[in-house]
Amino acid sequence: MPSFGRLPRIPSPGWFPLIGAGIGFAAIMLFVSTGSQDVDANVSIPQEEWVSPTLLPEAEELINSTTTTLKSGDNAISALVRLGFDHSTSHFLISKANAAYKLKNIRAGQSFKRVDSSSSTDIYYNVSGEKRLHLQKENSSTAQWQATLDERTVYSRERFASGTIKDSLFASAETAGMDQRTTMNLVDIFAWDIDFARDLRNGDSFQVVYEERYDDEGKMLESSILAAEFTNQGNQFRAVRYEQANGKIDYFTPEGKSMRKAYLKAPVKFSRISSTFKTKRKHPVLGYTRAHRGVDYAAPSGTPIHAIGDGFVTFVGWKNGYGNFVELRHNNRNHTTSYAHMRSYAKGLKRGMKVRQGKIIGYVGMTGLATGPHLHFEFRSRGRAVNPLTVKHPPAQPVATTERQRFQAQTAPLLASLKENPVQLAWD
Ligand SMILES: [Zn+2]
Repeated sequence: MPSFGRLPRIPSPGWFPLIGAGIGFAAIMLFVSTGSQDVDANVSIPQEEWVSPTLLPEAEELINSTTTTLKSGDNAISALVRLGFDHSTSHFLISKANAAYKLKNIRAGQSFKRVDSSSSTDIYYNVSGEKRLHLQKENSSTAQWQATLDERTVYSRERFASGTIKDSLFASAETAGMDQRTTMNLVDIFAWDIDFARDLRNGDSFQVVYEERYDDEGKMLESSILAAEFTNQGNQFRAVRYEQANGKIDYFTPEGKSMRKAYLKAPVKFSRISSTFKTKRKHPVLGYTRAHRGVDYAAPSGTPIHAIGDGFVTFVGWKNGYGNFVELRHNNRNHTTSYAHMRSYAKGLKRGMKVRQGKIIGYVGMTGLATGPHLHFEFRSRGRAVNPLTVKHPPAQPVATTERQRFQAQTAPLLASLKENPVQLAWD
């Protein structure tokens, strides 16, 4: 459809910094525990073939353009009326659109745009980042309204960012030019190897090759990491994205081992650790030394708590000093994990219920004996508490031997984008 030619062009200044502004992660920070080091993150964007923000041609014969955004409780009729169509025309337009897209499904926040030009009247409604409903009527006495569902152009660009952590991963990643979505993805990729809530240190570093996808109005649709490296306390981890022959996309080490393991390294993604696993310590509330059989994650009240592995719920409820308490038994029946002091449980969480790794089971609180909001987390093997931070777990299925060559061919160029980065013990 040539109709986009009549849309006004997107003004080039100003749109780019707006990308990602709607992501609600503003309050999330990853803190590092010790020291300070004055190495700033840096960014470079080697591929500048990125399309200019002037995505649409000039509108030469544009006469008038009006946009209206749906409020909550609003509907398509009232939106079209606001654009200057009378009630019966609005009803007619909605029934006309039906074959292409049902305007009953529309949500608050979405917009209708009316464009009047010398040759036609057009109505645009963005169904998604990839699709746009277009209603058009030529300016002639015999013309009829036509409805089509048009493909929108999706733009993508590959980016590279690297940085050294100073105070917080999110701050360093932002300095490196990464949006928060990409930083979250980075945390998720290494979640089986690195306890981001506890183990980050100043001087830890990262490199990320990622692809951003934008719609034709410059709004970011998604960001996927193609290859990444994270160096945590001198341990270097690398991951590469690979689409397997069966179509499944996952992350693997450069050697083709899965990044996934039976257990996540930590049940929360963001926190400041308050107490590590010790056999004896002074209990902050009881005021006497006793064995502390777990790891405490001090985190803001309401921080999501994730099941670290697949399993089922064996206990949900109040348990004395532990407050609101959840226990899971894992697929390896010898292993249980427990989560204490929760503010609340995930909706519908019940004893006997199956849970998948990563599923939110509750939220950090300070119920029971707790001086502040934190998660008390225990890992037990055959009923005996073990230090969850030192337990080693075997990885999931590697890349099939039959597709090793395919894996090498696809991932080698991505891994080559990561710089050779000899581990430096600069923070010691
Ligand atoms: Zn504790």
